[in-house]
Amino acid sequence: MTTENPYRALPSVDRLLADERVRSLGEGPFVTELVRQAIEGARATIAEAGRAPAEEQLVESVLGLARAVLRPSLEPVINATGVIIHTNLGRAPLSDETIAAMAAASRGYSNLEFGLEPGERGSRHDHLEAPLVQLTGAQAAITVNNNAAAVLLALSALAPGREVIISRGQAVEIGGGFRIPEVLAQSGARLVEVGTTNRTYLRDYEAAITAETAAIMRVHASNFRIIGFTESPSIQDLAGLAHAQTGARPGEHGLLLLDDIGSGCLLDTAQFGLAPEPTVQESVGAGADLTFFSGDKLLGGPQAGIIAGRRDLVERLRRHPLARAVRLDKATIAGLAATLHHYLRGEALSKVPVWRMISMPLTGIERRARRWARDAGHGARVVDGRSMVGGGSLPEESLPTRLVAVPGEGAELTELARRLRTGQPPVVARVEHNTLLLDPRTVRPDEDRALLAAVKAALAPTP
Ligand SMILES: *Cc1c(COP(=O)(O)O)cnc(C)c1O
Repeated sequence: MTTENPYRALPSVDRLLADERVRSLGEGPFVTELVRQAIEGARATIAEAGRAPAEEQLVESVLGLARAVLRPSLEPVINATGVIIHTNLGRAPLSDETIAAMAAASRGYSNLEFGLEPGERGSRHDHLEAPLVQLTGAQAAITVNNNAAAVLLALSALAPGREVIISRGQAVEIGGGFRIPEVLAQSGARLVEVGTTNRTYLRDYEAAITAETAAIMRVHASNFRIIGFTESPSIQDLAGLAHAQTGARPGEHGLLLLDDIGSGCLLDTAQFGLAPEPTVQESVGAGADLTFFSGDKLLGGPQAGIIAGRRDLVERLRRHPLARAVRLDKATIAGLAATLHHYLRGEALSKVPVWRMISMPLTGIERRARRWARDAGHGARVVDGRSMVGGGSLPEESLPTRLVAVPGEGAELTELARRLRTGQPPVVARVEHNTLLLDPRTVRPDEDRALLAAVKAALAPTP
């Protein structure tokens, strides 16, 4: 009897590379490396089990390794949570026109920094300034990578080595590690906290003003709310105080009033039964020297940070070296312009997905929920619930909705939610009180079919 060496039974790298299915992966060092890894794995199997895997298994393992590497890490998911601006799921979905504009600007060359009429160098900032000035009433605007960068840029350019006064209740962490005291420290400005966590009066700000003060800053509490015994001066009152401190030289504006409003709301949220979110127009109109907001929260466009305000200040920001480091790319400029055009044309409620979801009539949500529940079976039924605006805007604010509730026990529902998340396409649902909840409000109607197939697949008994 001969004892065969199982390691000898392993195919060579070249032999596996010659396999038709392996060849279909392409050629080059990447595929060779996967083949080496598969053979390495087979050696480990032999060391453990004493037998070589079949060649077929080795080919399968190469294909599996390739799939794992080539599968896109960032992929679309269906958001059935009912949280409209979901930070972890990519914030604002974009309008068709916005996506088309981004694709058009990406596909070829563009006049990004080129004036077509004079035929000479232009500025990338020019494309967004006109619509922003129109919409906000500000003299000027500059747009950067995100709102965190916008605040950092402004403080770095306008207040280094000087003091910035902020209410103790507003020296907050916004999320994702954006902490106002740390951003101030990074900019070189010195934070002067005034008042208490729940109550800050105008006189607290007034008492803190020194020769070292550069600005008063307001930060909108985007992701939490202090309720009850609270007090904070209006932006008008803060503007009055900041601008009353007129400097010695004529034309000097005294202190700056910086207003970080966060969500970039341009429409009245109260018309949908929500708390009034501060709008950009109100902030500019009340006298903020610079107003800061995101492009991808309630504005409903691509990720960006927008600074609207006084022309002389915006000019200073444009010339600061950080402006170059945090500038926008051409696709975002094109996309943001297309989103802003929806507002200019008065069609934001029907075109901007975030606002389409906020203003979605309950009857349509109910109709879809009934269809979903009927198709899903398994005791699914329609219940009343709330959709959240979410994501750094309107904390705790919600809209009435209809949810599809799938009943189950704790572990069973955890498993169902996992199967939905790991299915194709992934579906993210809410689990509350022994029910799995699906909210049609945040699911595009053209995703209904894919969602139902995913739900049925997840509910089907495991083979
Ligand atoms: C969300 C938010 C930020 C950070 O904005 P990004 O666009 O995420 O960088 C800053 N300030 C406030 C008040 C916010 O709500």
